[in-house]
Amino acid sequence: MTDRKPAAELIHHPYQPPAGFASPVEPVHKGSSIFFPNVAALKRVRWADRDAYTYGLQGTPTTFALEARLATLEGAEHILLAPSGLAALNLVNQTFLKSGDHLLLPDNVYGPSRNAARHELAQWGITFDVYDPLDPADLAARLTPATRLVWLEAAGSVTLEFPDLPALVAAVRERAPQALIALDHTWGAGLAFAPFDFGVDVTIHALTKYPSGGGDVLMGSIGCRDRALYERLAAAHGRSGLGVGANDVELVLRGLATLPLRYAAQDAAARQVAAWAQQHPAVRQVLHPALPGSPGHAAWARDAQAAAGLLTLTFHEGVSSAAVEAAADRLRVFRLAWSWGGPVSLAVPYDLALLRSLPGGRRGPVLRLAIGLEEPEVLTTDLAQALAPLAGG
Ligand SMILES: *Cc1c(COP(=O)(O)O)cnc(C)c1O
Repeated sequence: MTDRKPAAELIHHPYQPPAGFASPVEPVHKGSSIFFPNVAALKRVRWADRDAYTYGLQGTPTTFALEARLATLEGAEHILLAPSGLAALNLVNQTFLKSGDHLLLPDNVYGPSRNAARHELAQWGITFDVYDPLDPADLAARLTPATRLVWLEAAGSVTLEFPDLPALVAAVRERAPQALIALDHTWGAGLAFAPFDFGVDVTIHALTKYPSGGGDVLMGSIGCRDRALYERLAAAHGRSGLGVGANDVELVLRGLATLPLRYAAQDAAARQVAAWAQQHPAVRQVLHPALPGSPGHAAWARDAQAAAGLLTLTFHEGVSSAAVEAAADRLRVFRLAWSWGGPVSLAVPYDLALLRSLPGGRRGPVLRLAIGLEEPEVLTTDLAQALAPLAGG
């Protein structure tokens, strides 16, 4: 996977323009109704086949173009689009889980995913448990004969632990062959690692983040290699009304050409800000998988070729949540907002006690930073003034 050339592959993706108009840019196709020439054709065309059109909700040349390009990026055989990353992960749960089943989530899972398990899934008779993503033995111990789906996330949300993906996958295959494995690889964006190299069954990617890159689109995708799994996902997708807008698809298609460049720039800038933050007297640790000592660093160094533009600051004993929140309020260039992947650097303070379930994990206030496309010196200057009152704490 190290000899992949994603930028060239995304830019030179096959597309046949109409005769006489040799532009490499896909047109934006819209349409709810799609005409059939006769009843035989209307009865023959199946919407799960991605080579024919039935109804706008089930795909257009524009959505199929994005699906094909994402399949190239991820190394997937099949891609489905959803209106958000959250809708994509809910579709995976909805497709593969039924009443009586058991689900496992990493303790550092994307927060709304845990909330969906607590509410909708619980209401449908599906139980869940969380495992320590840094301990494959803990995952193994929590598998039960009823476990049907195990989520992995690399790196984990907020605390950015990079798990030993091969060991987690091996634990599931050995102890729970009945379970499917789904990987949320939004952080890696198809660039830091090739998600299917780890032998997972299904992936989800919040295209809202790096593929969009503009902070202006909400979209998600589901990927898989296996035809039978795809048929189940596509059937559930077709029954769920998960349409995406053609103009949003256009923006993601456009964003993909610059994705490798933006990802590399945000990765480099985040490491620069991280190195600066490591020297700050109020900061205890900078969580970023490329930093030695950061949780999961060894697995990241072995299995990944790049890192996203995210880092999280932990603080010395004596720095309170209120002090971290006040520092966040002093930020001027970093804006307070959820999400990441766009041009504007963003910050969110979290209290880990409220996010994590397992005892013995990391606790205390943290500040999650998502690096945008500003000059890194502008960002460290902003952080310096915001964190100044915490120094010596
Ligand atoms: C943002 C995010 C999602 C959800 O994506 P939305 O498009 O915002 O719904 C899912 N997983 C991870 C890891 C994310 O960061």
